[in-house]
Amino acid sequence: MEMEVWLNAGLGGIFGLLIGSFLNVVIYRLPKMMERQWAAELASMAAGADDSLQGDAVAEQQQPAFNLMTPRSRCPACGHEVQWFENIPVLSYLFLRGRCSACKVRISVRYPLVELATGALFFFCIQRWGVTPTGIAWCGFSAALVALALIDWDTTLLPDDITLPLLWAGLLASSLQWTDVTLQASVAGAAAGYLSLWLVYWGFKLATGKEGMGYGDFKLFAALGAWFGWQALVPIILMSSVIGAIIGIGMKMSSGLREGGYVPFGPFLVGAGFTAMVFGPQAILQAVLKLFGL
Ligand SMILES: [Zn+2]
Repeated sequence: MEMEVWLNAGLGGIFGLLIGSFLNVVIYRLPKMMERQWAAELASMAAGADDSLQGDAVAEQQQPAFNLMTPRSRCPACGHEVQWFENIPVLSYLFLRGRCSACKVRISVRYPLVELATGALFFFCIQRWGVTPTGIAWCGFSAALVALALIDWDTTLLPDDITLPLLWAGLLASSLQWTDVTLQASVAGAAAGYLSLWLVYWGFKLATGKEGMGYGDFKLFAALGAWFGWQALVPIILMSSVIGAIIGIGMKMSSGLREGGYVPFGPFLVGAGFTAMVFGPQAILQAVLKLFGL
């Protein structure tokens, strides 16, 4: 029995490595796909206003397909098409010593790290909940959060294509009792999560004239509310503020502050989401209170 648990967790971990490899593609391509879609929409709006631009809009539509499946991955430096045996999670990176096989340019260490992190999260979920709807649901939750954190870090965007399905999946999981959150707590969590950050956003904007966060943050917080219930919202926001403060201070000390100095909030919400998944939201609250000596 014990043996079977670890075997399943190991298989889950290997599956997680493969999903992590796919997440690398999502993280890299989804923002570019969104950009293309906006450009196409702008072009067709312009074409509607002025018929002479119609040709450009048509040309836009005739661009080669670009989605999560096509074209095959290429080396950004030399265009070398990545072969299947160069695309095995982690192992290929080690085997290629972190360089493109054709032009020897460095491949970012982030690729194997994303694969390892996803593998570790899947291992954890299957070890904790087994090969059950609950275990699989938390694997899906983990994959979505990994993608969101890195896309937000890179582009300061949290795509609706991920946050909204994540929110609905959280409501579905509680309605089917895959998680131990009641449907009422889940619905209330989604609504209160969205509204609370929406209020903070407008309060901050009215007070300072600046935008402190984006609508994507409300949707991600709403999704976390759906997965953990309304009771988890305060612990999660406290936790993400603590993580944000630590990382912010760290970046200032290493003077590695980003261009423009804007640090997205999404990765910290994700950090709090994972902490809640592993330790439970109430444990987070206790840890935060302890931190402040309460
Ligand atoms: Zn290359």
